[in-house]
Amino acid sequence: MSHLQLGVTAVSKGLIDLRSDTVTQPTEAMRAAMAAAPVGDDVFGDDPTVNALQERVAKLFGKEAALIAASGTQTNLLALLSHCQRGEEYLVGQEYHTYRYEAGGAAVLGGIVPQPFEIESDGTLNLAQVEKRIKPDDPHFPITRLLALENTHTGKVIPQEYVLRARRLVDKHGLKLHLDGARVFNAVVATGLSAQELCRPFDSVSICFSKGLGTPIGSVLVGSKKLIARAHRWRKMVGGGMRQAGIIAAAMDHALDHHIDRLADDHANARDLWEGLHDLPGIRLEPQHTNMVYVNFESADTAKRVSDGLRSQGILTSSAQRMRLVTHLNISPADVERTITAFSAALKR
Ligand SMILES: *Cc1c(COP(=O)(O)O)cnc(C)c1O
Repeated sequence: MSHLQLGVTAVSKGLIDLRSDTVTQPTEAMRAAMAAAPVGDDVFGDDPTVNALQERVAKLFGKEAALIAASGTQTNLLALLSHCQRGEEYLVGQEYHTYRYEAGGAAVLGGIVPQPFEIESDGTLNLAQVEKRIKPDDPHFPITRLLALENTHTGKVIPQEYVLRARRLVDKHGLKLHLDGARVFNAVVATGLSAQELCRPFDSVSICFSKGLGTPIGSVLVGSKKLIARAHRWRKMVGGGMRQAGIIAAAMDHALDHHIDRLADDHANARDLWEGLHDLPGIRLEPQHTNMVYVNFESADTAKRVSDGLRSQGILTSSAQRMRLVTHLNISPADVERTITAFSAALKR
């Protein structure tokens, strides 16, 4: 997103960067773990750090196998390509990443047809409407193959009871169920449910390590051995085979050890930010969930003015009329306090 681009890294300039949880700097300890990692050629299957990480993540999610990839877009793409053939269809939310934010990769590269649905206010899909769109076996129609969900969605943890209903629906119709779990660890920490418990109903899950977990690169796809074998071939085909990828896997392993429980701090910081902002005049806050706060401005001009005002104080945000503020590894309680003060001043100006 071009309006988010900045030629310098925020942390190195002492800035408070609330644009996303992807802007984090790897910690010194993470860099040390990366530097010390034993590595090999992962295209040959030789990288011990990658192999161990894949095994660890598969076990953590209660799945047979796991595959490391460069990004969440790539793990989602591999999942869609591995579940669906050309001329087959996946059911998805209009604003879900796997439909809206991945440049149509499944359609472009896989000939896979998306069937999008409006998303309910709690981040779920209306399963009655979804069921109505499942196509009967008829040569006129694409073959419905997959339902793709997202957790968290805009910071919201989707109810597990709903996930179980979605599972019953796909079972009834012989479909598969994929989770875009880019921020699934935020859901783990928010609910107290284990990754395994949250993800048991899914045939595949895509997990990002470069969001709240704070690694520079890296996502993992988990699923059955058969599915991951297919994903492995697709990964090679789309140029995603990496060589000494243990450097990345070591960061991911470190994040599993040190950066999961601390997501609770991000959630508390987001809560404090929400509480500090919600009485300010001229803005409307949406309920806060996990590490995200959404601020709605009366006009696009006000949003731009406030964003510029914040920037002049070293605080980076989007300038959208519906502004998303995201807490992460490099946002402290003091940063939250400074942001609330600066926000109030920028609104008055
Ligand atoms: C960030 C994100 C992804 C993957 O994005 P990459 O930048 O490709 O790693 C997928 N889904 C959601 C919901 C995301 O926020």
